[in-house]
Amino acid sequence: MVKDTKFYDILGVPPDATEAQLKSAYKKGALKHHPDKNAHNPDAAEKFKDLSHAYEVLSDAQKRQIYDTYGEEGLEQGGGGGGMAAEDLFAQFFGGGGGFGGMFGGGMREQGPKKARTIAHVHKVSLEDIYRGKVSKLALQKSVICPKCDGRGGKEGAVKKCAGCDGRGMKTMMRQMGPMIQRFQTVCPDCQGKGEIIRDRDRCKQCNGKKTIIERKVLHVHVDRGIKSGTKIEFRGEGDQLPGVEPGDVVFEIEQMPHARFQRKDDDLFYHAEIDLLTALAGGTIHIEHLDDRWLTVEIVPGEVISPGEVKVIRGQGMPSHRHHDFGNLYIQFDVKFPERIAGPDGGPMTEETRLALERILPTRRTDQMPPPDAMTEDFSLDSVDPAQEQARARGMASDDEDDDMHPGAERVQCASQ
Ligand SMILES: [Zn+2]
Ligand SMILES: [Zn+2]
Repeated sequence: MVKDTKFYDILGVPPDATEAQLKSAYKKGALKHHPDKNAHNPDAAEKFKDLSHAYEVLSDAQKRQIYDTYGEEGLEQGGGGGGMAAEDLFAQFFGGGGGFGGMFGGGMREQGPKKARTIAHVHKVSLEDIYRGKVSKLALQKSVICPKCDGRGGKEGAVKKCAGCDGRGMKTMMRQMGPMIQRFQTVCPDCQGKGEIIRDRDRCKQCNGKKTIIERKVLHVHVDRGIKSGTKIEFRGEGDQLPGVEPGDVVFEIEQMPHARFQRKDDDLFYHAEIDLLTALAGGTIHIEHLDDRWLTVEIVPGEVISPGEVKVIRGQGMPSHRHHDFGNLYIQFDVKFPERIAGPDGGPMTEETRLALERILPTRRTDQMPPPDAMTEDFSLDSVDPAQEQARARGMASDDEDDDMHPGAERVQCASQ
């Protein structure tokens, strides 16, 4: 005689039922009461769990013997370890692939130490700051383990593993489609994927059961002198904290902002200086505002003559090099601003006197492009070019090439205005 018939009653079999009878009774009941097929009936979920639990016990010869002798209490005390979740049992029956339950049980959580995500941030820095070096204080919001509940989410012992998913947060669900059983994974509805259940009154007040709180953290990012754009500065373990995983990292990527006066290439600086024709020919002084409040006074030697587009260098006035303790170079490209016109003393055309003066000063006219003596020659004079008119004309000419009909005109305007 058995002590208690509850489990047999749940399955609807007599206490002396054979293994085959138990199995068939469970299959029938589980399909009928599966929560997926009984969304409108909350009792079905309970019934489904009870069925699964009853079958789990009675299908195990050792557990069945304990149950028959001592009833349910005997099981709880002598207890076979943690009972199998109802869904897993169901999956073993209907899911096909043998040993599915076991594989799933071990798989998800044993993938080595997990790490919280990396917080990545681009830190934009001016060229001045890179030239001089500085320490940026950057604040970030990160999650930290709740200090009140030590990341449990509630009072000690109040956080229970979710029975619906056996703490996994995911459940294998079944859907019957005609003769087929479709198996799919879904977030556990009992615990919303958390794998744990905390009663409202035991929930931690500080983190509201979330186990972590948001904290503002200030990090000191060392922007070293001469640091390269794209350099990554890493703070290991300063990122998000989550229960049971390694804290994440914080990575700042240095991005050098464009500069109004200088372009940088490695340790060298490039600068455009516009000088007038008189300075280009007769020398003079230019002033360059550097990156550290200094002004460089640069002498152009009289008579040296700077051509338009010519590049000169001031050694050691580039960026500080990051590793070695020296500096790159400062390259200066000259744009020579020609006078619009050279007028006479009364604002009229250039006088003969000025012309003769220029002819005396400047190198003699070149004569190597003369036509041969017997060539036919025609006389012309020059008109000024109106950029707007040229653009309109270029657009008209390029109308058979729709893709870039603006470009020829745009280039031409640039050439004309220089
Ligand atoms: Zn807390
Ligand atoms: Zn759950």
